[in-house]
Amino acid sequence: MRYVSTRSQAPVLGFEDTMLTGLARDGGLYVPETVPVMSQADIAALAGLPYEDIAFRVMWPFVADAFTEDDFAAMIARAYAGFGHDARAPLVQLAPGHHLLELFHGPTLAFKDFAMQLIGQMFDHALTRRGDKVTIVGATSGDTGSAAIEAFRGLDAVDVFILYPHGRVSDVQRRQMTTPVEANVHALALTGHFDDCQARVKDMFNDFAFRDRVGLAGVNSINFARVLAQVVYYFAAATALGAPHRTVSFTVPTGNFGDIFAGHIAKRMGLPIDKLVVATNQNDILHRCLTTGAYRVGDVTPSISPSMDIQVSSNFERALHLAYGGDGSAIAQLMAELKEGGFTVSQGALQALQDTYVSGRASERETSQAITDYLRRTGELLCPHSAVGVKVAEAHFGGAPMVTLATAHPAKFPDAVETATGIRPALPPRMADLFDRDERVTRVDNDLAAVEAVIEERRAA
Ligand SMILES: *Cc1c(COP(=O)(O)O)cnc(C)c1O
Repeated sequence: MRYVSTRSQAPVLGFEDTMLTGLARDGGLYVPETVPVMSQADIAALAGLPYEDIAFRVMWPFVADAFTEDDFAAMIARAYAGFGHDARAPLVQLAPGHHLLELFHGPTLAFKDFAMQLIGQMFDHALTRRGDKVTIVGATSGDTGSAAIEAFRGLDAVDVFILYPHGRVSDVQRRQMTTPVEANVHALALTGHFDDCQARVKDMFNDFAFRDRVGLAGVNSINFARVLAQVVYYFAAATALGAPHRTVSFTVPTGNFGDIFAGHIAKRMGLPIDKLVVATNQNDILHRCLTTGAYRVGDVTPSISPSMDIQVSSNFERALHLAYGGDGSAIAQLMAELKEGGFTVSQGALQALQDTYVSGRASERETSQAITDYLRRTGELLCPHSAVGVKVAEAHFGGAPMVTLATAHPAKFPDAVETATGIRPALPPRMADLFDRDERVTRVDNDLAAVEAVIEERRAA
């Protein structure tokens, strides 16, 4: 499988280099040159298989040039062995025709573990074989960072630096990043918002001298390997509900657009998805863009669903690339306009986006109310991100069964859940001592040179 940049100006790469590189050197994101299509019979054969087997069959065409079948199967097995649920991604019914896909049974209690645990295995395998070392740098609004640190802690071939917005992540998220004791993981608390963290990471990738000197690698959701790992649970859920004989809709709490874009890939692979619903909180730039075509960057308003507090949604570039028929220069132009504050997508591209995605937003009050309501109606305690999802999903019922992605465990966001329900959700027993562990964190200014200096100093030479 060959991977091309959304902006067409970077080298075409195979899977392993795409994964190790992260961001393309022209500033774009790697996407598969063509998306492999699964036959209806092959999709039907997934029903009832263990999650690991579905993962292998769905991902294999994308990675076949990088690994042997046995090695890849072993990586998948190790990636999901630490999950706290045998089904890995269990479906729970909320109402007739409405299901919750619980993606929070991994080691850091958010869906990002699905991709990050596998990426940890794949990086380790590829780097060990090459005798290479890399410095992984990532920005996080909370969940990516903890998932990355958990996935890479203790691996010899990598140093990991995670930038998170100081004071803007939950206590559980912060402690998951600051308490691991391994010397190869480093939590950096940046003075600023998530978008600042993300911008500094992009700047580092565009500083080619620094990039080459430290062997920079990225595992943010711009890394196609992450998107790929997330395609799997769309197949697992849909086939459990009768696909390919029945179509299924999905609602996805969205921030950086990685998770929902994985659904788009699943659809292009032949999975009969009816609606793909982009659910946003009050930071609704994606909802506005998908409705009007105008993408105008404003200020981030902090919400009770912080992992979706975003104005610059990186993976949206991949959806635009498809909507523009793979026209890299059109995408480069839009992204140049984005630097000046925003862009408007063409009529044809907006139509293409709207053929794939619908969208909605939930206010803070609606989100909190949804947590209260669903506890009363179903006994499910939802995290605020999942609550945004179920609230927005309600406007899109009808026809196909709806699956809302539950992106985090309620105990990861206990304050919002307690405010809505009076119940303070407990951490699963396997991490009950999180608040007793010592923290280790470095404060940094929102300044490229300062961040780079810390990384050069701390990484193992
Ligand atoms: C990361 C995250 C999201 C947003 O996912 P994207 O792939 O960035 O759209 C939603 N909910 C939670 C809990 C997350 O951690």
